Amino acid sequence: MSDDPAQLAVTDQIRAAGEHAERLLIASGRPAPVRTTPAQAPPWFRETRAVMLRAEEDGSLRHCDHLASPQPTAILAEAPDRLVCWDCYTKAQALRSCHICGGPAGTRSLHGGVEAVIRGPAAVYSRVICRSCAEPAGPRGTFGNGR
Ligand SMILES: [Zn+2]
Ligand SMILES: [Zn+2]
Repeated sequence: MSDDPAQLAVTDQIRAAGEHAERLLIASGRPAPVRTTPAQAPPWFRETRAVMLRAEEDGSLRHCDHLASPQPTAILAEAPDRLVCWDCYTKAQALRSCHICGGPAGTRSLHGGVEAVIRGPAAVYSRVICRSCAEPAGPRGTFGNGR
């Protein structure tokens, strides 16, 4: 970690954005995102984060039109090379597809989905799987949506 004051200020802003994202998540009636170490994180998180970091490095990372950094940001497991603002994350929920089978898994789909949310350093990472993919092993996410 750098002692450069400018670097530290950016780190503080990133941390604040992560905390803001967590508050919004709880305010929307959902459980707080899980915090995890890279070694303990589920594979989907490691894969999603790896794609995001690669995209950031090679300049192909995209973002929705509303983002002005730093602010609460989400990364959807099905589009790991794109940062989205909180509004886009919230609006996407209803229409998201299952990360395993690609079928509908959003909250407006027939059965609803099971969402796992993990808080990264700056962004919230979210994966949704459909009910039938969740059922064989039970919801395998860090938490389900309560159903
Ligand atoms: Zn947006
Ligand atoms: Zn599925």
